[in-house]
Amino acid sequence: MDRFLKILLVVEDRLEYHLIQRLLSQIHHTDYELTWVDQLGDALHEVLSEEADVILLDYHWRQGNCMHLLNGARAQGCRSPIIVMTDEMEAEVDRSAISHGASDYLIKGRIDSQLLERTLRYAIERKAAEQRLADLAHYDPLTGIPNRILFREKLEYAVNMARRDETSFTLMYLDLDGFKQVNDSFGHDAGDKLLKICAERLSLCLRNSDSVARIGGDEFTLLLENINSATDIAHIAQKVIDILAEPVQLGTHQVRVGCSIGIAVFPEGGSDVDSLQKHADLAMYEAKVKRGSHYHFFTEALNLEARRQLLLESELRIALKGDQFVLHYQPRIDLKSGQLLGLEALLRWQHPERGLIYPDEFMDVAESSGLIVPIGYWVVRTAGQALLQLRDVLTEPSLKVSEGLMMAINLSVRQFNDDKLVERIATLAKEIGFDPAYIEFELTETALMENLDRIELCMRALAHLGCSFSLDDFGTGYSSFMHLQRLPISALKVDRGFVADICRRQEDAKLVASMVTLAHSLNKTIIAEGVETPEQLQMLQQFGCDQVQGYHYCRPSTLETITAQYFDRPGVVGPSEVLSCQRA
Ligand code: C2E
Ligand code: CA
Ligand code: CA
Repeated sequence: MDRFLKILLVVEDRLEYHLIQRLLSQIHHTDYELTWVDQLGDALHEVLSEEADVILLDYHWRQGNCMHLLNGARAQGCRSPIIVMTDEMEAEVDRSAISHGASDYLIKGRIDSQLLERTLRYAIERKAAEQRLADLAHYDPLTGIPNRILFREKLEYAVNMARRDETSFTLMYLDLDGFKQVNDSFGHDAGDKLLKICAERLSLCLRNSDSVARIGGDEFTLLLENINSATDIAHIAQKVIDILAEPVQLGTHQVRVGCSIGIAVFPEGGSDVDSLQKHADLAMYEAKVKRGSHYHFFTEALNLEARRQLLLESELRIALKGDQFVLHYQPRIDLKSGQLLGLEALLRWQHPERGLIYPDEFMDVAESSGLIVPIGYWVVRTAGQALLQLRDVLTEPSLKVSEGLMMAINLSVRQFNDDKLVERIATLAKEIGFDPAYIEFELTETALMENLDRIELCMRALAHLGCSFSLDDFGTGYSSFMHLQRLPISALKVDRGFVADICRRQEDAKLVASMVTLAHSLNKTIIAEGVETPEQLQMLQQFGCDQVQGYHYCRPSTLETITAQYFDRPGVVGPSEVLSCQRA
């Protein structure tokens, strides 16, 4: 046995941990490192990390037995031997554990250091031998990726998991176009090399949770987890097509291959292993019929949805180049003084045929395609210019306009994916000549749930430039106090859904009142959006809300309309006087 062993011990009971520790210390000539996991739920991750030379797993747990873990370990190709520890007189258990992939078992009352040493050694040696055979049976010798047998096991596992967790996954069947010609004209060696290169390229496009297999001559499969939207799936299929289309050098010849991809998404495209495979295969033939590299979804609804979203995406690209975006602005008002504090910039798309389109209709595609990044910079630039213009115009002292008139700009979480975000904002501000201190970025609670560390870093850098932040749609997501205190957020913006019902539903009134208290106790400003009636306004005033925004004052509108309103009505103070601009 190796002189140094890493052992993973998965048991609930501390006494058993101490027992194993003591027995191990009595084994001579071997040092060991013992890692203890006392939660069955956390164990699969550890088991699959391939850190351990051997795993000792307790059979009985308060929440049930360990079969689920054994199945998971086997299905995901765990390479460490697992020894199950059972109680006296449970011959059945031992047998079923072994048939579910355990290498051996130990009866707890009978373990001594010698038996433990021998069992560990045999398990490790046997697993190594099995592994060599399994590799031969499960992997394609030419490309080194899983073969049809292992693929089927993985697919079975994916179906079981998705059924249990009510999640989805995607199966793609892929067939190379033009492979036969390469084989016929340049020989089998060239064909083999081409297959190897394709397998490498496919492996490169995948994430850790995905897997690729070769299931026949020039047929491959891809299993993709945790992707749900048709566009995301379509993007990956396109990426696969693009990466395979790059030229391949075979000796002195350069060739290009295309491919056809059939896609079946669980459960719509099949709720068991066989129907998923059949449907992905059928879809692949549909794709082949179109000639040239294509992908095709098994379900028509997904085909339509993917097409609609991709069409929208290409239209959005045109919109960005063709200057079809416009901003509308909505005043934000100080509740005590009635002063105009700033404006929120709201994106609209002036479509040449369909007219004015609101963000609800295109924001998801702008985000999933990444187009929100360039669109977002356009928003910052345009809103920044608008602010400068407004500051020049609204200087008359009779107008109730704050000296620090600011611009609120919405930021999507996708915009933080851009490494250059902070740099670009700084450059934009310099180019246009406005002080970033007059920008307040509105972030939603859900945005903060992803990738918090990176977002915090960006927020701090932007705050360093002078920008401030508010938390949009407050109350609809999940903000822990920790987030609220840890991040540089100076204001909370009560979601308009709560404001809508404060006069009708007591719970909502109470909720908003406590949001006001909470914000003030954290030293943050509280803003209510979606204020539509004088009654709502009065209630918010009673609660001590600081700032308001909504149709009651003004609908979002063009810069010209907003300025005209302020000039038409010098001395605009209160809500009632601005009511008329609702119809703007
Ligand atoms: P949001 O940030 O919560 O924006 C407020 C929405 O409420 C706006 O919808 C606004 O027109 C609407 N609204 C304002 N006052 C009232 C009112 O009194 N009653 C009611 N019922 N609604 C009111 P809009 O413009 O359709 O924007 C929808 C969402 O799109 C925004 O929600 C924001 O999340 C997103 N969005 C808008 N512009 C941008 C942008 O430039 N960048 C990013 N990343 N997202 C944007
Ligand atoms: Ca907003
Ligand atoms: Ca909002």
